[in-house]
Parts: sequence; structure tokens; C-alpha cells
Amino acid sequence: MEWLHAYRDAERVGRLVDFLATLELPPVRFMEVCGTHTVAISRHGLRSLLPETIALTSGPGCPVCVTAGAEIDRFVKAAELDGVILATFGDLLRVPGSRGSLQEARSGGADVRPVYSTLDALALARDNPGRQVVFAGVGFETTAPTVAAALAMAHRQQIGNFSVLSAHKIMPPALELLASDPEISIDGLLCPGHVSVLIGAAAYRPLVEKYRIPCVIAGFEPLDILEGVAMLALQVKENRAEVEIAYRRAVSEEGNRRAMELLAEVFAPCGAEWRGLGSIEGSGLELRGEWAAYDAGLRFGLGLGKSVEPAGCLCGAVLRSVRQPTDCRLFGAACTPARPVGPCMVSSEGACAARYLYG
Ligand code: SF4
Repeated sequence: MEWLHAYRDAERVGRLVDFLATLELPPVRFMEVCGTHTVAISRHGLRSLLPETIALTSGPGCPVCVTAGAEIDRFVKAAELDGVILATFGDLLRVPGSRGSLQEARSGGADVRPVYSTLDALALARDNPGRQVVFAGVGFETTAPTVAAALAMAHRQQIGNFSVLSAHKIMPPALELLASDPEISIDGLLCPGHVSVLIGAAAYRPLVEKYRIPCVIAGFEPLDILEGVAMLALQVKENRAEVEIAYRRAVSEEGNRRAMELLAEVFAPCGAEWRGLGSIEGSGLELRGEWAAYDAGLRFGLGLGKSVEPAGCLCGAVLRSVRQPTDCRLFGAACTPARPVGPCMVSSEGACAARYLYG
């Protein structure tokens, strides 16, 4: 039956492409907020299927890319502490800070361990009672609840040698900043399916009501993305600004309440620095008072310094969507996935890596 599904998919793609052409839109720019969308769009060549008047541009939805240089420096400082095992996701290891990357710290003798989940980091703490295990937490509403769950488990199991250095961020305040910036000039947002499973479609309504910007939540298959673009295009054509869901098989209006309640129980919103976007009030997550004992920043006295960007790197402007990866003079020459200069080339979800690998 696989051929039948492929045939039906091809038919639907054809219909969506024809539909987009018949709309005859003036030039519009839609931002795919999420790094997973960025990669899928490049990998499947979706831009080539769109009318010339519809441009897709990448946003700040790659968690590794938006982690500020100062946060990377703090992770490196934690890794270099005596007796500490620093656990984090593999994508983060090669992101450069002003003191080098976690990978370089590891080469210098620091005990840095890539893990697949926060629970793996907790298991490290359980298996190494004589060591302190610090989890370097990055990511949005998709990953932060798993950190909250791991902390709740650490508390229940009285695992005291586990702590978290949070660089977690939440998406709506960053989207509001982008929507209010006249330099960025976006006609619609293709919103991330996985984040929306957690936060629900309702989370985007204040943004849509305040800035009249169309939002469509889309999944990650090529057809999902094309459908999302077609729904955005139709909103523009009909002069509507609404939140619509093109990913109904996973996303609801209210999201995953249990996960969001757990998140709110453990974390509180705080100001956070985003690479490229600067400091945004209420866009970060810090451990609430009763969970502060698990805050590695407090436990080890690790403050945040000042961010320093790699020389010549335009990642900040790429993440704000005011520059494209190919505008950077280092792109494909001094900066490649094998020898990345900035985080957008390090991360598998980075706009520069996607453009380099898939064109
Ligand atoms: Fe930064 Fe490299 Fe992208 Fe240039 S090509 S913006 S140096 S990651």
C-alpha cells in the first residue's frame, strides 16, 4: 500500500501547489519559527514548489542557536568545576562561547557527557553518588517539562547530587518581539507543531489579536508544511488574522495541561537573553523558590557574564530573519558543518546548516 499513499500524497501536493498559484498573492514573507521546519523545508525543496511571491524565512526556533554566548560560557564554567559531571544534549557540545565550547572543555579534561534525555542525566547522578551532576538545560516548552519531571523524580528519590543550569526559553514572548519589529516585517507565522502540542493554540491568540499577524500551527511532514503555508496564504488573501491548526492530529486548543502544570510548579518565568534577539522579559525559565536547591547556578555560584559573538558571524541577524545564511561571508568557506563558526551551522536544526546541506 505504500505506493498508494505516495500517490495520494503527490496528488495532494499538486493540489496545494496549484491552489497557492491561483491565489496570486503580492510578495509576502512567512516565517517558519521552528528549526525542525527549517530543515524539513530545505531537505524537501519546498521553496521550489511555491510561487515566487511567497518567501519562507527562518526564525529563532532552534534551541541551540538561540542559547546566548554567556549561557554557553556558564555551562563551560560548570563543566570545569572539580568533581562535576556536566550532562547535556549532543547538539550543544560544539557551540562556541567566549571561553571555547563544551567539546573543547572536554578535550581539556572536563567530564562532559552527552545524554538523550534529562532522565539519563538523573541516572548519571544516581550511579555516581560521589559526584555532582549538572544538567545544562536548553530548549523550549517541549523539553522544559521533561526537566521539571526529572527534578520531581530527584526530589522523590532524594537524589541530592543532581542540579540544573537552566537556559530554557519560552516562545510567545520572542514571537511578540518579532511581530512588533518593523525591520523584520513578517506577513505570517508558521508555528511549531511540537511546542504547540504542549502550549496549545490558545497561547498564540494574544499575539494575533495585538499584532493582527496570521498564525498557522503546522506539523513536520512536507504535506503538513505545505498545508500550513496554504492556510497562511489564504488568510492573507482574505485579509484575516487568526490562529489556525494544520496539525489537528496532535495539537488542541488548550495543549497538554498536565505538562504545563508541572512546568509551572517547578519553573517561574524570568528575563532571558536570546542570541540575536537580546534580553526579553518573561521569556526564560528559572527554578521556583522551593526548587532553588536544585539550581546549579546558586549551588556553585555561577553567574552570567557578557555574551561575545564569534568574529564575522551573522547568526544573530539570521535568527532575527533580517539576514539570510548566504549573506554571511563565512558561509560555506570558513564556516561549514565540519568546521562551524557559529551555532546556526553547529546545530542540525540551524538555518545555516540546513542551507549548506540542502541548498
Ligand atoms: Fe554564523 Fe557560520 Fe552562519 Fe555565518 S555561516 S552566520 S559564521 S553560523
